[in-house]
Amino acid sequence: MSSVLLPTPRPLADRHGRVATDLRVSLTDRCNLRCTYCMPAEGLEWLPNDEVLTDREFLRLIGIGTSLLGIRTVRLTGGEPLLRKGLERLVAGIAALPTRPRIALTTNGIGLARRAQALADAGLDRINISLDTLDPETFHRLSRRRRLDDVLAGIAAAQQAGLQPVKINTVLMRGINDHEALPLLRWAIDQGVQLRFIEQMPLDAQHGWNRQTMITAGEILEQLSAEFSLAEDPQDRAARGSAPAELFRIAGTDHRVGVIAAVSQPFCGACDRVRLTSDGQLRNCLFARTEQDLRTPLRSGATDEQIADQWVSAVAVKLPGHGIDDPSFLQPDRPMSAIGG
Ligand code: SAM
Ligand code: SF4
Repeated sequence: MSSVLLPTPRPLADRHGRVATDLRVSLTDRCNLRCTYCMPAEGLEWLPNDEVLTDREFLRLIGIGTSLLGIRTVRLTGGEPLLRKGLERLVAGIAALPTRPRIALTTNGIGLARRAQALADAGLDRINISLDTLDPETFHRLSRRRRLDDVLAGIAAAQQAGLQPVKINTVLMRGINDHEALPLLRWAIDQGVQLRFIEQMPLDAQHGWNRQTMITAGEILEQLSAEFSLAEDPQDRAARGSAPAELFRIAGTDHRVGVIAAVSQPFCGACDRVRLTSDGQLRNCLFARTEQDLRTPLRSGATDEQIADQWVSAVAVKLPGHGIDDPSFLQPDRPMSAIGG
């Protein structure tokens, strides 16, 4: 029996004591929805195809991350990652890497009904599906498309495929779906999925975010407490580590609900993420204003070690926090859909 000797990974450490182990990969900047907190109605100017990495290129970079740099989780996102042709093949390729990471997907769920089982069979371990409303008209108002039934079918298929626990990401918008926190939680308990509310962040292409009108985590908890008794579990708190969601147990059930207070209670001090855009740019933060180009060295014959060196230097200079509350805060040039949420 032959054994492969793998190199000892170099930690992706920054100057504030954090180590990145979670790689978020945007597979495409394109999307089939137009969520108002993310994109304008007309969409965006998409990246040209020749700038977007091929599956081989993604696999090489992810392999460098897992074998040389201590990446342990790879989350595939976008844009809408299900729009990427051959996603199942890419998932299988990641699962076959010499150092296999946990593989997760964040998706709007459209088309998932047909693909959830194949993705699970290919090696997908976890899934987050975005759902902001249970009302078809509100869904249309929020995403500018009539696809609620497709999303619900996708959620059911993910559960049937054994991708448990299915996590649901919800953004509440004032005057649009902020009355749906309770109905969504009742639905989540009934379906056996874990709901996580995410505070809206200033990452929309239209720059329409407004701190004053944002629905805060505090407000969401107040709404939920009108019907449910929520308690933060000391075990969950201890196990939270770098996870962005604060989890609350719902009294009398095994159910938990998460709140991601990215703006009002930033968790930057525990961040373990690094991001790769679909055109091969490494970002050390969602809100970073600089990127490290890995596509050029990748396409011009650099060795794995040379690429790893650039990756290490890019993470080393990660800022301590996102600085949204800083008067000099500037939104990044790329919107969320092109960074990978
Ligand atoms: N298209 C996929 C989806 O919607 O799940 C993956 C990409 S999307 C950018 C990833 C997550 O980011 C979604 O859950 C979405 O709701 C969230 N998101 C997008 N724009 C946001 C914003 N401005 N603030 C907070 N969350 C946002
Ligand atoms: Fe598309 Fe996701 Fe952005 Fe909605 S949040 S427009 S589904 S990328």
